[in-house]
Amino acid sequence: MKKFPTPSINQAASILHKGGLVALPTETVYGLGADARNPKSVAQIFTAKGRPKNHPLIVHIADAGQLAKWAQNIPKAAWQLAEAFWPGPLTLVLPRLDDVPDEVTGGLDTVALRVPNHPVALALLNAFGGGIAAPSANRYGRVSPTSAEDVHEELGDKVDMVLDGGRCSIGIESTIIDLSTSQARILRPGKITEQAIIDVLTSSVIGTSNIPISCPGSKPSHYAPQALVILASREDAVQQVKEWHERGQRVGLLSSHRLTGLPKNVTWLSFSRSVEEQAYELYQRLRQADHLNLQVLVAVMPEAIGVGHALCDRLQRAAGRGNEKTKTYAQF
Ligand code: AMP
Ligand code: MG
Repeated sequence: MKKFPTPSINQAASILHKGGLVALPTETVYGLGADARNPKSVAQIFTAKGRPKNHPLIVHIADAGQLAKWAQNIPKAAWQLAEAFWPGPLTLVLPRLDDVPDEVTGGLDTVALRVPNHPVALALLNAFGGGIAAPSANRYGRVSPTSAEDVHEELGDKVDMVLDGGRCSIGIESTIIDLSTSQARILRPGKITEQAIIDVLTSSVIGTSNIPISCPGSKPSHYAPQALVILASREDAVQQVKEWHERGQRVGLLSSHRLTGLPKNVTWLSFSRSVEEQAYELYQRLRQADHLNLQVLVAVMPEAIGVGHALCDRLQRAAGRGNEKTKTYAQF
């Protein structure tokens, strides 16, 4: 990680204090940040992204000690998970304090909180001294940015400053767990798996694998490139590619294996073999599909192990099928 210049951090903190927008790197994806206590600044996030106003945002804080400034009736499970995973890619949904702006929570009586594990994000949070509301720094419904260049491509001059902290090391959004009721429930899968959470809590957790995930503000189509995304198993991927190719479409294949029998002019977007590396690469590949002007992207479903669950979820949403039960490689 390159050493980040302090003046830029101070300048970014000052922009936040004045009500502006700063795009910041985190270990998951780049966020579009605003002062979470300033409803006017938060409103600008929705304008910049073109996002419906009732979608709640995640508030980023510098450490677990700040939880009590945003949430109340904080259960023991929240402290245990914060201790185990913060700073890191886990977001806790908790009952909110009354003074948390409705603009941040989408009018819900809960608030989502996370301590990111990125030196630039943490430096900014410490210099700013408050909570930063930050959704992913992309236009609504599109692929999340994992580099400063991606943010420029997505939002251009709609943001007052972009802090460049290099490429995001994880590459997909945080796991979200709702702890606002007596039964912990995962709302969005991510790098921190259901099993890792169960190991810490030593109690049951409602996971996402058997139910369609519906968390407020999430929708069946999300993380979508311009191309139509077709989900496939390794066995039927080539057939799918051929069919779309024969219909005259510019087709790409997202796969960790070089498959034989592909028609000429079909672009192979290679994927690594491990699900961790695939998470790191996914949004880069979807963006590459846009740069290549692909019309159809046939994606071989990753294995549903570890972060693979989150990959399957994101690909299903990229295909506009996030309202279906999460399917895994074996089910295609
Ligand atoms: P993004 O910031 O783009 O990663 O999206 C934020 C995610 O956090 C969305 O999927 C929201 O639905 C979810 N979220 C934020 N606040 C809450 C909340 N209070 N309850 C449930 N989900 C939330
Ligand atoms: Mg997002």
